[in-house]
Amino acid sequence: MSKSREAAERFAERRRREDESQRLLELQPDLLTCRIDVTEGGGSVTGSEVAHTRTVIVERAPALFVIPCHDSACRDGGYDITNEMLRGLRSKQSEIEGENRCMGSIGNGGSCTRILKFKAISTYRAS
Ligand SMILES: [Zn+2]
Repeated sequence: MSKSREAAERFAERRRREDESQRLLELQPDLLTCRIDVTEGGGSVTGSEVAHTRTVIVERAPALFVIPCHDSACRDGGYDITNEMLRGLRSKQSEIEGENRCMGSIGNGGSCTRILKFKAISTYRAS
């Protein structure tokens, strides 16, 4: 299989997972806003830290939180923080913090060592 074909398949697979997964609002109907600050560091690129903020579009977000790895040498990388996020959102936590290791691989069977730290800030409808 060609490289681009492979990438397309992976993308399609990810889309399928997103389409099939539950909506965020089904899990937590009182969620109003959610923003995730992430810092990614370590790995093969020494000293490079990437920090960014993801704004979750609450109205149409799937109940799936997968953040891509930014190491260009990393294959199939990404951080699945779905469990931590859903646990926190279910119990209406305004801050959810956690850490996750990249699940990708580099070169011949080596694994990516990048680490993602995240902090999600959410607001909920008062009940
Ligand atoms: Zn990675």
